[in-house]
Amino acid sequence: MENNAKVLLKWARDLLKSNGVEDVTFESRVLLAHSMGISVEVTFLIDDPITQEIANDYQSMVYRRAKGEPTAYIIGYKEFFGEIFKVDPRVLIPRPETELLVEKTAKYLNDQSIEKQEVMKIVDVGTGSGCIAISLAKLFPSIKLMATDISAESLELAKSNAQNHSVIDQLEFYENDLLTNLEGPFDIVVSNPPYIDSNSIKAVQREIRNHEPIIALDGGLSGTETLSRLIIQAKERLSDDGLLVIEIGFGQKEDVLFLCKKIFSSNSEVKLEIDLAGIPRVLLVKNNE
Ligand code: GLN
Repeated sequence: MENNAKVLLKWARDLLKSNGVEDVTFESRVLLAHSMGISVEVTFLIDDPITQEIANDYQSMVYRRAKGEPTAYIIGYKEFFGEIFKVDPRVLIPRPETELLVEKTAKYLNDQSIEKQEVMKIVDVGTGSGCIAISLAKLFPSIKLMATDISAESLELAKSNAQNHSVIDQLEFYENDLLTNLEGPFDIVVSNPPYIDSNSIKAVQREIRNHEPIIALDGGLSGTETLSRLIIQAKERLSDDGLLVIEIGFGQKEDVLFLCKKIFSSNSEVKLEIDLAGIPRVLLVKNNE
């Protein structure tokens, strides 16, 4: 095969398409950009022939993608909230809808004085790559956060991301099942817990099912088991005016609202925020004891 960008990209698009990849135009360019060490935009400007070494490298990445491996694991990073996070199969790949958690938490923090921010006790539960905690730490240099995860190996990656983003001094990491063993009161509990029901995992895309850590996805038989456990634990540990910000899955709105109405005082504010696809995605509870 002739090693020019046009020919290689066409070959990649065809291969990816016939293997069920959705956004072949973009993904073929992301992989080419990565193999050449350039940005995706610059791939539109390549005139010179591509070296055999780069072509081989590119082709082996395209084959991996064709077999179902997610692009983020192949290139080793994912963009989230405008920043780059290292990812590998130890952690869930950050999703765009999770940016809504950061946005809502940031909005709340913005309304607090710097003095208050400095003393707030904030925890990111099930931190994974660390993308939520690290994004918040970067936005608010005066805050400190705790980041927990049941997976020791995900904490290693989260720490490395925190180091790369120079916020390691703002974070404390705990290997922990949700909030068990952690003492409140917390001013903010933020989390993207696993919420796919165990039976549906078989039916999700192969990219997710075969490559991402099941422990980060499986929310038990009902899908809301971990969510409910977390909401109950958070209620026990939230400060009287604390904030709970949790990502939920499609169709889980009624269950979480029912639980929140049952356990939080009637003065508390319970809200759901809609994601870009119009799906209720973020549960916000402002405790009011
Ligand atoms: N949003 C992810 C997905 O649909 C699931 C993440 C999670 O369970 N927290 O694949």
